[in-house]
Amino acid sequence: MKTHLHLLTLCAALSLASCSGRDEKKTTMETQSEKPAEPAGKVEKTDAEWEKALTPEQYEILRKSGTERPHGEVYKEFKKQGEGSYHCAGCGALLFTSKQKFDSGCGWPSFYDPAKAENVLTRIDTSMGSTRVEVTCAKCGGHLGHVFEGEGYSTPTDKRYCINGGGLKFVPGKP
Ligand SMILES: [Zn+2]
Repeated sequence: MKTHLHLLTLCAALSLASCSGRDEKKTTMETQSEKPAEPAGKVEKTDAEWEKALTPEQYEILRKSGTERPHGEVYKEFKKQGEGSYHCAGCGALLFTSKQKFDSGCGWPSFYDPAKAENVLTRIDTSMGSTRVEVTCAKCGGHLGHVFEGEGYSTPTDKRYCINGGGLKFVPGKP
């Protein structure tokens, strides 16, 4: 009986350890002081080129439609950030600014509108067994997140662009 208990404790400790091990791979939002150049046209790269150009976290989100952990490091950073602009980490296109930012409490960076409408595309996404509207970067096709509408937020649009901060680049300063 004693051995059993001991084993159980050991198992619990091991699963905890593997959990916190996973958490150590922290997705963060890149910050830079200069606004990146706006891409002139579509930005096209091969999968191998994207993998080389991006951090593993950016690659996973932008090119593999990954989703960062909610209420993670990125969300904490986002809440602390002041004025600034949010660009695509893949191609530098301006996507959002602090003017459209709001705290939805959902655990991911949220905006009620894009800063530059032509840089953001939406399309119906039926993966994960539900119908959602996917948000992508119009310039490089990178996956950004999803947009939800009519949830009752007291913002000018009542839309929630629920965006993976790990796929964004933040440039502090007047947007
Ligand atoms: Zn892009």
